[in-house]
Amino acid sequence: MTQDIIHFDKVVKRFGDLTVLNNLDFSVKRGEKVSIIGPSGSGKSTVLRILMTLEGIEGGKVTVDDEPLWHEQAADGTLKAASEAHLRKMRAKLGMVFQHFNLFPHMSVMRNITEAPVKVLGLSKAEARQRGEELLDLVGLADQAQKYPGQLSGGQKQRVGIARALAMRPSILLFDEPTSALDPELVGEVLNVIGKLADEHDLTMLLVTHEMRFAREISDRVCFFDRGKIREEGTPEELFTDPSEERTREFLSAVL
Ligand code: ADP
Ligand code: MG
Repeated sequence: MTQDIIHFDKVVKRFGDLTVLNNLDFSVKRGEKVSIIGPSGSGKSTVLRILMTLEGIEGGKVTVDDEPLWHEQAADGTLKAASEAHLRKMRAKLGMVFQHFNLFPHMSVMRNITEAPVKVLGLSKAEARQRGEELLDLVGLADQAQKYPGQLSGGQKQRVGIARALAMRPSILLFDEPTSALDPELVGEVLNVIGKLADEHDLTMLLVTHEMRFAREISDRVCFFDRGKIREEGTPEELFTDPSEERTREFLSAVL
């Protein structure tokens, strides 16, 4: 077992003529908290969407937990295209929190959180509900279980989104600009919850964000993406205080 829980090896991703990821090498260690920053269109969301198997790849290899995402190893060691069962097993390792929450509008908060654990993990309704209560407590929404998403503020919706992702007990949590659809006064409550999760030693976190101060606080490592490649990476201290690339400096001076 290697230390890396996520590994991109020369990954190529294209949409038609557009090459979005161009031989991307990228890895994340078990338990590591990594932030991805970079200009719009640089491929940040695509990296997360590939990990969730919402997008395929045109070249290279992605492994999660040392197993290839899109292939599986046959008994004789050869690789074959992943079966639906393999994809399901791999997806279960990851949870994702989306910019626009993606809650089920016709389900209560509690049902949003318990639906997948019951259907996919096979938990009993009672087990799922108990875990749901713990998670709502964790995100500060214990009293909102019976509400519907439409009755919640954006900050509350996103906290439900986080609880829902955690309900599947992923070992990796992906965040795609979780606060950028929120009114400024609601950003703090969501960052507080993410910050709390960052203290969990075992949880691996990959966070795409424009919240530079927050990225600096919680990350072990920050990667600056530019045109489908990591242009520069380092500790928050290195990257934010003393970036070595001109392109990183330009980006930071525009957003800070
Ligand atoms: P970021 O999250 O860094 O803003 P994305 O990963 O969303 O960037 O997108 C990278 C590039 O790929 C952009 O130019 C975007 O327009 C393009 N792209 C993303 N998804 C699709 C798609 N489904 N079809 C065509 N082009 C896409
Ligand atoms: Mg994006």
